Amino acid sequence: MPVERVKTLIVGGGQAGLAMSHMLTQRSCSHLVLERNRIAERWRTERWDGLRFQFPNWSVRLPDFPFPHSDPDGFATSREIVDFITAYAVFIAAPIRCGVSVIALRIRNGGSGFVAQTSDGPIEADNVVVATGPYQRPFIPPLLRDDAGIFQVHASRYINPDRLASGAVLVVGSGASGAQIAEELFRAGRRVYLSVGRHTRLPRRYRGRDLIWWLSAMGLDQTPAEKHGPDRSKPLITGAFGGNTIDFRRFAAEGVTLLGRVQAADQGVVMLAPDLAKRLAYGDGSYAAFLDMVDAHIERNGLEMPEDTAARAVLPDPSCLVEPLRHLDLRASGISTVVWATGYECDFGWIDVPVLNAAGEPVHSQGITEVPGMYFLGLRWLANFKSSLLSGVGKDAARLADHIAMRIR
Ligand SMILES: Cc1cc2nc3c(=O)[nH]c(=O)nc-3n(C[C@H](O)[C@H](O)[C@H](O)COP(=O)(O)OP(=O)(O)OC[C@H]3O[C@@H](n4cnc5c(N)ncnc54)[C@H](O)[C@@H]3O)c2cc1C
Repeated sequence: MPVERVKTLIVGGGQAGLAMSHMLTQRSCSHLVLERNRIAERWRTERWDGLRFQFPNWSVRLPDFPFPHSDPDGFATSREIVDFITAYAVFIAAPIRCGVSVIALRIRNGGSGFVAQTSDGPIEADNVVVATGPYQRPFIPPLLRDDAGIFQVHASRYINPDRLASGAVLVVGSGASGAQIAEELFRAGRRVYLSVGRHTRLPRRYRGRDLIWWLSAMGLDQTPAEKHGPDRSKPLITGAFGGNTIDFRRFAAEGVTLLGRVQAADQGVVMLAPDLAKRLAYGDGSYAAFLDMVDAHIERNGLEMPEDTAARAVLPDPSCLVEPLRHLDLRASGISTVVWATGYECDFGWIDVPVLNAAGEPVHSQGITEVPGMYFLGLRWLANFKSSLLSGVGKDAARLADHIAMRIR
């Protein structure tokens, strides 16, 4: 059988793979997109029902394709994002094949170009863009044994409160996923324990504008990767329930028991670090620093914005902070479920091209690797703050498309 040949192969049919396709089409560069499931699969099956897009509707767009909405300040559902990305694929007439998985990728014999082993046979390509997502393989720390008699689920497989057995829930992880799932559970009447880690807390709105507006006005959303400090934690924000500021002190006031980091577990008893106060202080510090930055920006630029003193109010220390738990007996506390909101690992084991470091992470400069023709797109901090975000991926895709077009010509 003759081997299929393409100029550029894009692996992944999410927002990044499709933005890449559009940018190559605009430069008359032929290509093929392979998606192992369906377009925008992760927005279909790896997001919970109550999740809302974390950016207001007015700010959501893919290249040449703004998000259609009737409420600029609203926050889209995952279903609306799936429909948007699917409509984008039609709008750009993406040459995409769904249900085809790339199983292995190696350099073509002779040393230039690549061979992708797919579930549909081999494909040769001069260029490959890997757009398989910033969040690939759910990570659960191996702390609680399966036989502890407690149902355990990663945030990517959590669906809604009604799908969990009755009883209290321990949510481990206080990033955007953990905080949002904890809030949804306690609003649904569940008893919730939340293990809080290091986090960067930001206001949803301040002085009359949404966070995203301020990030853009101050140019912070363009922060390049090289100017970013060592703290890579993602901003803790939510679009759920109309979009509000996440404040763990408010959670506690509403009945959530805050805990330190989970360190170990033995026979259904979880050991907790004595670090809750430190974690909350760090989150509160990042929040206050952001308000200061906005105030300074307003003053410097002589802007007329309403005051917002309420945003600086700090709720009193909750009892779970004053006397933090060091152990939690899951069964004795009535906990039937543990939700692990503990993040993701990368999964590039199928790439047999020398572009990965010892930890299996891609080595690149703004998505361009040292192996000619091999690119990555959509990774966190690929080039800047917005690289892995829906409304930010287009700029990186354009840069890679320019590089590919130059290479071809
Ligand atoms: C819970 C959660 C909430 C988020 N909320 C927001 C938000 O509100 N706003 C925002 O801008 N960003 C958000 N993000 C971040 C980011 O926008 C999403 O992760 C988004 O899905 C990334 O799009 P992508 O196209 O880069 O990757 P993905 O959506 O992960 O798409 C990659 C595609 O590649 C396919 N694939 C993987 N491996 C292969 C292979 N070997 N062969 C063929 N196909 C393959 C997958 O099936 C998948 O469809 C969120 C992320 C998470 C986890």
